[in-house]
Amino acid sequence: MAAEKEFVKELTSKSEDFSQWYVDVIRKTDMADYSSIKGCMVIKPYGYALWENIRDGLDRRIKATGHQNAYFPLFVPESLLRLEAEHIEGFAPEVAWVTHGGNEKLEERLAIRPTSEAIICSIYAKWIHSYRDLPILINQWANIVRWEKVTRLFLRTTEFLWQEGHTCHRTEEEAQEETIKMLNVYKEFMETELATPVIVGQKTEREKFAGALRTYTIEALMADGKALQGGTSHNLGQHFAKVFKIKFLDEDQSEKYVWQTSWGVSTRLVGGVVMVHGDDAGLVLPPRIAPIQVVFVPIYFERTKEEIRAKVTALAEALPGIRVEADLRDTFTPGWKFNHWEMKGVPVRIEVGPKDIAKHQVVIVRRDTREKIFVPETEMRATVERLLVDIQRSLFDRATAFLKENTRSVTDYGEFKELIESKRGFLVADWCGQAACEDKIKEDTKATIRCIPFDLSPSPQATCICCGSGANHRVYFARAY
Ligand SMILES: [Zn+2]
Repeated sequence: MAAEKEFVKELTSKSEDFSQWYVDVIRKTDMADYSSIKGCMVIKPYGYALWENIRDGLDRRIKATGHQNAYFPLFVPESLLRLEAEHIEGFAPEVAWVTHGGNEKLEERLAIRPTSEAIICSIYAKWIHSYRDLPILINQWANIVRWEKVTRLFLRTTEFLWQEGHTCHRTEEEAQEETIKMLNVYKEFMETELATPVIVGQKTEREKFAGALRTYTIEALMADGKALQGGTSHNLGQHFAKVFKIKFLDEDQSEKYVWQTSWGVSTRLVGGVVMVHGDDAGLVLPPRIAPIQVVFVPIYFERTKEEIRAKVTALAEALPGIRVEADLRDTFTPGWKFNHWEMKGVPVRIEVGPKDIAKHQVVIVRRDTREKIFVPETEMRATVERLLVDIQRSLFDRATAFLKENTRSVTDYGEFKELIESKRGFLVADWCGQAACEDKIKEDTKATIRCIPFDLSPSPQATCICCGSGANHRVYFARAY
């Protein structure tokens, strides 16, 4: 018992110090590590397996909606990046530059992509000539570099992994339809795979992507009451098309600029999963993305060790299609293993000891509720399949209840300031639409407008939470990662 207590103590309590708890969980579960390069992390096998499952689930959806994957260069010539003033200005402080090739100074500096609009647009301009070349529906899985001053594993790192979709369309309507379609793909993906409910809406002018016409976002609420932007989808209009001269001859023989979109999610989602579902014992992973869905822990006794080892191996093989690990090591006690796999967030644990073998049963423990059940061997597979579905749904329901409890409407600015300080969460309030008020609120409270939702509008008499003049929008505020 003493050893088990020691083990759990290695994690900081989530309620005591959330950000230290987060770092402890990531490092102690072997998801990621710091590196000698400032701002760059190492994604270790367990964290990478989680990312691969996230990636695969999203990749299936991206392909099912008619997109293909491709790969574009890592470098963006400075002249290309500079073609679009607003865009370079938005990214300038974060761009890493390559100035030398070997010992030779380059004639032109190369940016390491902070995003790929410039390089991809310059290439699309060569590919697109006629309306018959449209639409272009391409996605890229890639690494991105943005020079960050602060490092937070998975949430803010200088290099990170993401996908970026870049599409070209014949009409404005088609581009808008694509922008919203991918926003909905992200929402469904977050809810189904990551068991994470999200708020959906449009970004304000201030918060939108540099160079975009409109930016849409999905926003999730972390367990500490801060929001995390899960993904964004941008309607780029014809802005980049005009800068990079992406033109086509339409059916009516007139030359037109294409309409574009871009959309992306990143390895931040891994951090989101940790912060939405984790608890004081460590990770709690949604079964659909868990690298290991079921772990077997044998309860060894010297005399029956071989028998138990053989039994566990056979039982593990009786779960095809499920990601199973049989922890057959005899260098750790069962108690140590229980803690170890709980911390790693494995949804289901199956214990097998000599008494269980005698009774032809197994002991099944679910990670989210720690409920323990005794199940006949013959019903093991059906029970595990049912539990994996049930845990996935329970995690979503729990996160949804948390989101609801922590979303509050406010009309008084004093109350707004008090709530954001004491409770955080989402605050729903009316806003005049002026950037000046947005700035003042951010300065006063560190809260930003996360989005202007599609399904809320201010009442006719509503007034801005900040300046008191007539309200044009009803929006979600939060402090955010
Ligand atoms: Zn105002």
